[in-house]
Amino acid sequence: MKQVAVLGATGSIGDSTLAVIRCHRDLFTVHTISAHRNSDKALALIDEFSPQHVVITDKTTYDKVRASCTDKTVKCHYGANALNEAVQEPEIDLVVAGIVGNAGMASVMAAVRAGKTLLLANKESIVTAGALVMPLAEKTGAKIIPLDSEHNAIYQCLPDNYRVGQKPPSVAHLTLTASGGPFWNTPLADFEQITPAQAVAHPQWDMGAKISVDSATLMNKGLEVIEAHWLFNMPVTDIRVAIHPQSIIHSMVNYKDGSILAQLGTPDMQIPISHGLGLGQRLSNKAALLDITTVGELQFYPADDKKFPNLNLARQAIEMGGTSPAVLNAANEVAVAAFLNDGIPFTKISDINDRMLNSIHVEEIESVSQLIELDQLIRQQTTELIHRLQ
Ligand code: NDP
Ligand code: MG
Repeated sequence: MKQVAVLGATGSIGDSTLAVIRCHRDLFTVHTISAHRNSDKALALIDEFSPQHVVITDKTTYDKVRASCTDKTVKCHYGANALNEAVQEPEIDLVVAGIVGNAGMASVMAAVRAGKTLLLANKESIVTAGALVMPLAEKTGAKIIPLDSEHNAIYQCLPDNYRVGQKPPSVAHLTLTASGGPFWNTPLADFEQITPAQAVAHPQWDMGAKISVDSATLMNKGLEVIEAHWLFNMPVTDIRVAIHPQSIIHSMVNYKDGSILAQLGTPDMQIPISHGLGLGQRLSNKAALLDITTVGELQFYPADDKKFPNLNLARQAIEMGGTSPAVLNAANEVAVAAFLNDGIPFTKISDINDRMLNSIHVEEIESVSQLIELDQLIRQQTTELIHRLQ
């Protein structure tokens, strides 16, 4: 029986993780869950899974959840620090990092520091703090299993004894596939009119709002190039991107002998999550099975850099090194939120990212606290920049 901590249990990754766990109650116990603002869902999950601990990071939500749990055995904790402490509990075997954005970084570091097996969905933590997370995992022996579908696909196509963080043997390059999001076929002239509702309506994947906008701007693929750089220890020049609108092939490993290994399946996060939770065993789940005879065409195209400048900004950030990926990531989070909530045009997201990326650069990443400080500074400066542009 494995004890699992599900961070971000109330989100989309949380949903898929708990859907897989529901199929295997004999294999997994939910030890800890975390939520931010969704008190109703947190309470429903407490009733269903009876975790020992629940961490709530929003104060009002915490007060509400705690007040509703007085007659329950679950222990309620408040705040980001509680999250970091919770993942270090000795009984926990697997930590699922499903918090969205940079808010997930410190708990990822804490889990790695404690040598846990980390099922990693929160790509922002690796983008921002890959230079800290990867050496720390090497030191503590923490095992990182990527859940992001592309990285999980690559991981599945690498040898069984491959350890994340090592340079994979005999690999020429990696090919990350991208659905292209809702607008890869839309003329650039129409980009100004794109609304948040259109941007979050992803053609293939059902995901949270932030990552859906990132998919629409291709920033998600940019962040994934950076993520792949850290997880698979590959130079950014050996990480290619192919637009694959059907989202059936989730990524590929191009070996030096000319063989290409790929992982295929329906676009459902239960599949990579099952692979992660199974630790090498194939676990059944409720995702629809792919009937390959119904697929018809599988198409692949190069990405259009003019329409989607974010992809190149991500490559540039890695080449710049140091804190540049962290700057790009933080600026993007603010720009996406401004698009979703304050009506800045869709095209401004990459403009803002570009300006911020080229405004601050620190060569050495020393600590999580340095990155958190930088993150706050970038958020503030990005917010000011957005106000100036409005
Ligand atoms: P959602 O927005 O659906 O869920 C986010 C989760 O994080 C919720 O549980 C939310 O709590 C919690 N949360 C939000 N803000 C904070 C905060 N400040 N502190 C602590 N917890 C917080 O996001 P997704 O599930 O889509 O994405 C989660 C991560 O997984 C992201 O990093 C994303 O890039 C990555 N990912 C997601 C995929 C997907 O298919 N969804 C695919 C690949 C990667 P609450 O709801 O209670 O407010
Ligand atoms: Mg992905």
